[in-house]
Amino acid sequence: MKQKQAPLLNLDFWDKDIETLERKKIKELQLENLNYSIERAKKSEFYRERLKNIKKIKSFEDLEKSPFTTKEDLLKNSPFDFITTDLKNIVRVHSSSGTTGRSKYIFHTKKDIEIWADLVARCLYMIGMRKEDIFQNMMSYGLFTGGLGLHYGAEKIGALIIPAGIGNTEKQIELMRELKTTAIHITPSYLLYLAHYIEEIGLSPSEDFNLKIAVVGAEPYSENTRKKLETIFKINVFNCYGLSEMNGPGVAFECPYKDGLHLWEDSYYMEIINPKTNKIVEEGEEGELVLTTLKREGMPLIRYRTGDLTKIIKEKCNCGRTHRRIMRIKGRVDDMFIVKGVNIFPSQIETVIMGFPEVDKNYQIIIDRKQGLDILTIQVEIKKEFFKGEINELRNLQEKIRDELKEKILVTPIVELVGPGTLPTTTGKAKRVIDKRRL
Ligand code: ADP
Ligand code: ZN
Repeated sequence: MKQKQAPLLNLDFWDKDIETLERKKIKELQLENLNYSIERAKKSEFYRERLKNIKKIKSFEDLEKSPFTTKEDLLKNSPFDFITTDLKNIVRVHSSSGTTGRSKYIFHTKKDIEIWADLVARCLYMIGMRKEDIFQNMMSYGLFTGGLGLHYGAEKIGALIIPAGIGNTEKQIELMRELKTTAIHITPSYLLYLAHYIEEIGLSPSEDFNLKIAVVGAEPYSENTRKKLETIFKINVFNCYGLSEMNGPGVAFECPYKDGLHLWEDSYYMEIINPKTNKIVEEGEEGELVLTTLKREGMPLIRYRTGDLTKIIKEKCNCGRTHRRIMRIKGRVDDMFIVKGVNIFPSQIETVIMGFPEVDKNYQIIIDRKQGLDILTIQVEIKKEFFKGEINELRNLQEKIRDELKEKILVTPIVELVGPGTLPTTTGKAKRVIDKRRL
C-alpha cells in the first residue's frame, strides 16, 4: 500500500490585491486607518480624555505620542467604557479565556464580525483550505474566540464545518472517521494528546484518517513540536496566532512556507517594544508585540500591549505576500520564570525536549524551593518502546536531555522520565508550569 504523504502546498490567494499590496501602499493605508481608528476611539469613554491631544497623525512616529493601552486598563474600567457606538449597534461580545486572571470583554459590530471572518478566510485559504474541505473545529465555542472565530472564516470559504467544540476525544475521533475530516483546528497540546489516544486504541494517526491540514494555535509551541506532529499525522501543521482583544485567531498566520507568521497589516498596526523601557526596538530585535486595530468599529484598541514576545522577520517571504512576518511567539512576558536567578521561558525547554526522538507527547515543568534553593524538575514522557529498554539506556537518555537543557537554559534541571500518557492533559490550553514556590 502506498504510504500517505503530507499533501503539496497550494499557493493561491484569497484576496491577492490586499495580500500582495506594495509596501508603500500598505503604509499609506495604515496611516489613513490609524487616523480613522484614533478618531473612532475618541468616541469612547475610555479614550476621550486620553487621546484628546492627539491630532492628525502624519507619520508613524506621531503615534508614539499616544499612550499604551494595557490589560489592566481593560480590567479596571467598565467594559462599556470602550464602546464607540450605541449599544444597539453591538452584536456580539467575546472574552479572553482567562489564562491569566480576570476576563476582558471585547465588543463587535456586525461589520467587525464580517471583517474578522474575511481575515480568517484569508488565513485558511492561504494554507490550502477550500470548499471541498471538511473542517472539524475542536476549539471551545462560546466566549472564547477560537470556536466562532474560525467557524465564520471557514464558512466564508464554504467548507463543511463540524462544530465539534472542545474535548470528548472518543467522539472527536468518531467524527473524524465517519465524516472524513480533512482539516482541524486544535491546540498543540490537545493534538499531541489526540495522537496518543489514537495510538492507544490501535489506530494509526497517519493511515486511518483523511486529515490534510491542522490549524494549531492558542498557546505557544516549538518548531520541534510542529515537526513531531507533522511526522505523526503526515499532514501540514500551520501556526495560528491571535488574541481576543484583537478579535481572536487570524491576527497572524503561517503561509505555506511555514517560516514565521504574516501579520495582517491592513487590519493591525504593529510595534515591537522593549517591555522594560517601553521603547520601540530595532526591526528584527525581540520584544513585546503592541497592536493597534485599524478597522474595528465597536471597540478600537490603540497601542495595545499584548504581552507576547516575538520579533519581526525583515526578509520578504517567498509566497509573495507583502505583509511582514513575525516569529513564532516565544511566550508571554509573564510566562517567564526565574530559577536560581536565571530567566527561563517554557518554550526554551520544549524546544530541547521535543528534539529528542525518544520523547513521546507530553511534558511538565515543576519548580520548587527546598532549604532556600530553587529546584527545577522536568518530567518527560518517553515512547513505549524506549521505556521498555535497558535501565542504562534510559539513564543515558536522561543525562543527555539534562545536559542539553543545561546548555540551553543555563540551569541544571532534574529530569524524570515517565511512561506515555502518565502526565495530566487538557483539551484546551495546557498548563505546563507548576510553580510550587507560588502556591
Ligand atoms: P487569554 O489571555 O485569557 O489566554 P486569549 O484566549 O485571547 O486569552 O488568548 C490569547 C493569547 O494566547 C495570546 O496573547 C498568546 O499569549 C496566546 N496565543 C494564541 N495563539 C498563539 C500561538 N499561535 N502561539 C503562541 N501563543 C499563542
Ligand atoms: Zn509567506
